[in-house]
Amino acid sequence: MDFSGNSSLFASLRAHMVHAQLRARGVRDERVLAAMARVPRHEFAPEPYRDQAYDDHPLPIGEGQTISQPYIVALMLEALALSPADRVLEVGTGSGYLTALLAELVAQVFSVERHAALAEAARDLLARLGYRNVKVIVGDGSQGFAEASPYDAIIVSAAAAEVPGALLAQLAEGGRMILPVGTADSQQLQLIRMENGQPRIALRELCRFVPLVSDTHQGRVQ
Ligand code: SAH
Repeated sequence: MDFSGNSSLFASLRAHMVHAQLRARGVRDERVLAAMARVPRHEFAPEPYRDQAYDDHPLPIGEGQTISQPYIVALMLEALALSPADRVLEVGTGSGYLTALLAELVAQVFSVERHAALAEAARDLLARLGYRNVKVIVGDGSQGFAEASPYDAIIVSAAAAEVPGALLAQLAEGGRMILPVGTADSQQLQLIRMENGQPRIALRELCRFVPLVSDTHQGRVQ
């Protein structure tokens, strides 16, 4: 089906997504739900997948990468307990969908993407949609973005074997980080809170993300 240009149909699909996939599964943060009801996910989906943008699964975005399933996105955002004044680091911009949600929820978003072509497309789309509080940086996000640290929250959309030390170092006191940790086949979300300079880790849902590819640690065994 071709839905392009039909924004009221997309809006009703989006409202249904929020109700059936998010509220019904226990997502309660009203700000997260409102942001997910507002951000046009179909704009971030490549043309052939646009009519599936509000379905209950991830979507391919090229370069072997995916936009996460809406429920996983909502769960991660809710876990971060974001406040409007927060400054947030995102690792793995991808399509920019999660970046747009963050831009709706917090004061400032810094998003690092290693694929220059994805970063550029996301930057253009976010600007076209009117998001001004976002900076997309091309680079290895496993090193974070020290220039703008510390961050109130950090969210990572690709799985590492272990929590990258650079990200922990860029988390503010009281800051929260959520990221998938594990191998290609077996991963779990970890929610980390920095308390008195120490990371406190809570294990959360099992998940499956694309790998966090580090270009910086040359010679490291993958
Ligand atoms: N949240 C994104 C999902 C992107 S998929 C969205 O809403 O579309 C994960 C992304 O992480 C991919 O774009 C991939 O290129 C990127 N990535 C993987 N390793 C990375 C690294 N070390 N630094 C920055 N980005 C990385």
